[in-house]
Amino acid sequence: MPCQIVTHPLIAAKLTRLRDRTTLTPEFRRLLQEIGALLAYEALREYPIRPVEVLSPLKEASGVEMIRPLVFIPILRAGLGLAEGIQRIFPESAIGHVGLTRNEVTLEPEPYYFKIPQHSGEAEVVLVDPMLATGNSAVAAANQLKAQGVKSLRLICVVGCPQGVVHFEQVHPEIPIILAALDEGLDSHGYILPGLGDAGDRYCGT
Ligand code: URA
Repeated sequence: MPCQIVTHPLIAAKLTRLRDRTTLTPEFRRLLQEIGALLAYEALREYPIRPVEVLSPLKEASGVEMIRPLVFIPILRAGLGLAEGIQRIFPESAIGHVGLTRNEVTLEPEPYYFKIPQHSGEAEVVLVDPMLATGNSAVAAANQLKAQGVKSLRLICVVGCPQGVVHFEQVHPEIPIILAALDEGLDSHGYILPGLGDAGDRYCGT
């Protein structure tokens, strides 16, 4: 499944502010929420729908309704920012949480929390995390979700890099990846270059 880079002037301008080191937490939060909503809008272009008829105040009209439930799953912590923005435009969606912390020595993800809605197996599930760096966290989260019976999965990240995309695609080739930008690569600590720094710290103000 090819990785999709969403090129849109609104997203690009917001991402530029998100990257800027002088952008403080209140604005960072707002931007992450807004980018989350814009990326989700694009990621759900193929969302299954069926035709319905409704009555407008004047006459009948043909329309559509969404067929399957929608579940968004942020990877804690920074994924929360994306999920908050997404929930505003998809208020009928449910939210799960995957807690993974990165071991700063091995760069391997260590799980500390996992809770998803019971109907996730029948839902369209979207995993959200601002950064696709080594890909370790996204791969581990998708492994956990598949083990719990999730069948339809997408991954939304704001910034990715070639290493993360290749790693994720090797393990989960059928899962679409939606990004706002594909950056150069990783530094020796596993941070994306140029990236936007530690998304969790900047979002939480820690
Ligand atoms: N996590 C972050 O928050 N930033 C990176 O650059 C990589 C992983």
